[in-house]
Amino acid sequence: MTRPIRAVIHTAALAANYAHAKACAPASQVFAVVKANAYGHGIANMVAALPNADAFATLEMSSARSLRALGVTQPILLLEGVFSAAELQLCAEQSFWLAVHDERGLAWLETTALACPVHVFLKLNTGMNRLGFPAEQAPALVARLKQCSNVASITLMAHFASADVPELGVAAQCARFDAACAGLDLPKTLANSAALLAYPETHHQWVRPGISLYGSSPFSTKSAKELGLQAAMTLTAEVIGVQNLQAGDAVGYGASFVADRVMRIGTVACGYADGYPRHAPTGTPVLVDGVASRLIGRISMDMLAVDLSELPNSGVGSQVELWGANLSIDDVATAAGTIGYELMCAVAARVPVFVEY
Ligand SMILES: *Cc1c(COP(=O)(O)O)cnc(C)c1O
Repeated sequence: MTRPIRAVIHTAALAANYAHAKACAPASQVFAVVKANAYGHGIANMVAALPNADAFATLEMSSARSLRALGVTQPILLLEGVFSAAELQLCAEQSFWLAVHDERGLAWLETTALACPVHVFLKLNTGMNRLGFPAEQAPALVARLKQCSNVASITLMAHFASADVPELGVAAQCARFDAACAGLDLPKTLANSAALLAYPETHHQWVRPGISLYGSSPFSTKSAKELGLQAAMTLTAEVIGVQNLQAGDAVGYGASFVADRVMRIGTVACGYADGYPRHAPTGTPVLVDGVASRLIGRISMDMLAVDLSELPNSGVGSQVELWGANLSIDDVATAAGTIGYELMCAVAARVPVFVEY
């Protein structure tokens, strides 16, 4: 028998979450953001789940090519643009849309002989200070792009730093964007999942949700369930061993957990080499045979321990949900001091993936 751990991808949840995005922004087109192997869910599974998506957005050239190879005929946007003139040529050949965020990328556009023009997303920095031209340069940059025979169309793009933090919001970045782009009659795209869900004024022509499509909340203040999102991945494993502890017995590496009474614990076939966060502390929620329990002690590479003291009917072979349809990935992430994004992206290649249609 193979090691009893698996990730199940729920394609119906992916489709429902995409439909939710469309309903939130009824006047906009929706990019399905599928970078990082669709946040760990698999590019092919996203393509299967969303045959009618308006468009896809990704970041790795390899995943853009995979999308085309899978038969995607919709637009595919490269969110970080290209990393060489040769990749720009590929964009023309495969009709990938691309972000242009700096002088180097703009120079490639202006000096490369392309087979056909490409659709350009001019990325402006409005306060994130990661990628993008200073927003105030937008009019001059647009004038340059309009002069460039390689440019089929121009869309103005920016990215929010704090759309998920109600106290900070998007107002300052929107103001800078609007001031810089006033008078430029061009399509725009600003919104990630948080802005899509919280700030309708940011929707414009295109929205770019990632995390919400996978059923995790971008907000620490509102759960996925409250938002109407469905978990798209369930990570489960089985109990493969049971230990009975006396008061004073320790569990696992570093003996970080010491029983203060008689306890029964289960050893589960999931560890940090599967993508479970090593820093998840004692008390992190798990479901054992559908019943809420908690993690005990330190996560090993291939195993972790759960408390079975209150679950006399559970033992070897019991099903343990680490996160998913019945246990929010966001609750596990919060306990482990991280965010759902990191957990779903980290699921390891050795975990068998099953797709539920
Ligand atoms: C990842 C990414 C998104 C999606 O962000 P979520 O918070 O997952 O919705 C949108 N736009 C850009 C440029 C990104 O890199």
